Amino acid sequence: MTHLPSFSIPWIVATRKMRVLIVEDELDFANALARGLRQKGYAVDIAINGEEGWELGEINEYDLAILDLNLPKLDGLEVCRRLRASKPGLLILMLTARSRLEDKIVGLDLGADDYLVKPFHFEELTARIRALLRRDLRVREPILSIRDLRLDPAGRIAWQGKRRLELTNKEFAILEYLMRHPGEVVSQEDLIEHVWNEDVNLFSTSIRVHIHSLRRKLGESVDSPRYIETITGIGYRVVAPEEDRL
Ligand code: CA
Repeated sequence: MTHLPSFSIPWIVATRKMRVLIVEDELDFANALARGLRQKGYAVDIAINGEEGWELGEINEYDLAILDLNLPKLDGLEVCRRLRASKPGLLILMLTARSRLEDKIVGLDLGADDYLVKPFHFEELTARIRALLRRDLRVREPILSIRDLRLDPAGRIAWQGKRRLELTNKEFAILEYLMRHPGEVVSQEDLIEHVWNEDVNLFSTSIRVHIHSLRRKLGESVDSPRYIETITGIGYRVVAPEEDRL
């Protein structure tokens, strides 16, 4: 008997769904932060000046912006003011030098959620981030439900009826994203953007693999979907509660 050649699925190390934007012109520092945060499972982008920070923050859906105040092109306080105005749900953590400590008051007035004085320990930063996200989750996140599926994003638990589902981080993140957009068609690109790091080189088959596995765990098939419909050539969709007549 011959062995079939093993094909490799681009199985990416599981990350949590939280997307973080770092706006910092000191590139070594920004890269070190990004590296550390990615290791902790966050999806991280870097903007190297205020203008870019504002643009990326405007275009993408981040959970958190880590915003240095002393920035070229557009001042951090101005970026904070603009992002706060256009993205009310975005958490903003300001970084400020000790010499500009008075800016923190202005920053907090402009809607920043917290601040850290440079230099700081990386562990302090991650503790602050966790606290912010926890606070935010408690405020914003109810249990999501579709039919007999329930999903607790804060606790990272999913149930089907009374049965607890054992999902991988990726499957959970995909399901969560779909359930947050009930009735909407979500494209593979949307999923890649929100569930994976932007800089990950990804084959689109990978999403299909995760969806397939998710469906198997939910006990449904492509032909008779109870939860996740495939919209051929476009993406996926879960039913909205109001169209659910089950
Ligand atoms: Ca700076």
